[in-house]
Amino acid sequence: MNRLVLPLALALAAPICAEEPLPDAGRLTAMQAVFAPVDLDADLSALPPGERKALAKLVAASKVVDALYLRQAGSDNVRLLLDLAADPTPLGRARLRYFLTMKGPWDRTDHHKPFIPGVGAKPPQADFYPADATKEEVEAWQSALPAEAKDRATGFFSTVRRAGGALTAVPYSVEYHNELQAAAGLLREAAGLTGQPSLKRYLESRAKAFLDDDYFASDVAWMELDASIEPTVGPYETYEDEWLGQKAAFESFVCLRDDAETAKLQKFSSELQALEDRLPIDPRWRNPKLGALAPIRVVNELYASGDAAHGVTTAAFNLPNDERVLKQKGSKRVMLKNVQEAKFQKVLLPISGVALPAAARAKVDFDAFFTHILMHELMHGLGPHEAAGPDGKPVAARVMLKETSSALEEAKADVSGLWALQRLIDKGVVDKKLSETLHTTFLASSFRTLRFGIAESHGKGMALQVNWHLDRGGFIVNADGTFGLDMRKLPGSIEALVRELMTIQAKGDYAAAKALLTRMAVIRPPVRIVLDRLKGVPVDIEPRFVAAERLLAEHGE
Ligand code: ZN
Repeated sequence: MNRLVLPLALALAAPICAEEPLPDAGRLTAMQAVFAPVDLDADLSALPPGERKALAKLVAASKVVDALYLRQAGSDNVRLLLDLAADPTPLGRARLRYFLTMKGPWDRTDHHKPFIPGVGAKPPQADFYPADATKEEVEAWQSALPAEAKDRATGFFSTVRRAGGALTAVPYSVEYHNELQAAAGLLREAAGLTGQPSLKRYLESRAKAFLDDDYFASDVAWMELDASIEPTVGPYETYEDEWLGQKAAFESFVCLRDDAETAKLQKFSSELQALEDRLPIDPRWRNPKLGALAPIRVVNELYASGDAAHGVTTAAFNLPNDERVLKQKGSKRVMLKNVQEAKFQKVLLPISGVALPAAARAKVDFDAFFTHILMHELMHGLGPHEAAGPDGKPVAARVMLKETSSALEEAKADVSGLWALQRLIDKGVVDKKLSETLHTTFLASSFRTLRFGIAESHGKGMALQVNWHLDRGGFIVNADGTFGLDMRKLPGSIEALVRELMTIQAKGDYAAAKALLTRMAVIRPPVRIVLDRLKGVPVDIEPRFVAAERLLAEHGE
């Protein structure tokens, strides 16, 4: 629902084999090498001393959250971690490192295969439900409860335990009492140190929520945050509960607002209606009055922990998930710029070294990459979102386009993002030099996405775009197998694809969407050749929180 976690297993295409032995130290090192280590540094010197101290408290609270999450993900995880930490052999050290990357003994990039001896299959219920219960038993028990008790038992913020044979819901504030007391104390200390009122309000209300399980006020305060420090700490996503998707896992992001990108975003936002009015579609499908957009924050990550820090590193997220807050305040998208930049340096640049001819590599540029990501997010809000249903009444295009809708929507945001940036360059809103890097950078990044496979919507949407531009001559394949651009043809191809996708959405034309994806959302041989050449390139990053660790040392946390 929120965070994009690409199926890394598909990218690595490791065969499943039941009798496979546990990986040895060499194999573990190779598995680890998929994640390129990178220092996440930040200059904190501009922050006043009180804010720096508050930041140190938030990092300390995030460490508490990390341990709490480890327990949620598996009841035996803490014991396993202590055992591994006591093993000084090379194999023990390699296991410990991979355990910390995966936050547990199961390989999240390879079908949750265990890589530690004595560990069974990953329990899909994690530690949210009793180990001896069945999913059916829990569901039957929940559905028989009276309304209020049922809300508690099925809610985000309780575990299910067995008390004298019967099932019972235990609130997080009780289940994780020690950790949440400690974390709440640190948040309150941080609240006492900051001079920023909206931050203070969030931290105080979140500390209270840790102790009374009522997260509503603090979710609202998070939506209203307007501060140089942007923390997100608490129980949020429910992916770890693979039984019922009910129980929220704890995570923490400690971030600093990026003022330059925030200003860029504001500039773009003020151009959106003018862009909508010029969309290359039938004028009756343009929206004469765009609604308010969901807020977007661009931040730099200082520290992440718990559910926010395992396997593939999160580069952007939408929160909160609580329907009551969504109704009242909507949601907020947070984009982690320095994480995107680390992925750009460690993954995208090496990919461009393989996928593009040497002369084109200088045109692969982080500013172009990130500016296009920003525009992609904004363009989700533009174009037709409703179509005429069978009875003539408007229906969400998403509903009419069914399973094709998210691949089409992702492709639309990408390609119309390119279209929109070109218009803003022509208009003088965006610096002309972006036009020299924008399309080459996009071409390189398309291989990063395609590497994750075309099973999910981002991959499907990207395959569609690449094949569309190949067919119209905007993308070309060189004799040596590298890819290039033909700028005489690419702009026309981009505009035609914007028109094609938005017209399908405006009409809610499921048959056309299905036909387009069947024909175009495929990996063709020239793309496969490049993907095969990318085998040695890291797939993702392993962040090292050097600025946060420095801060902790400085403040004795
Ligand atoms: Zn998107």
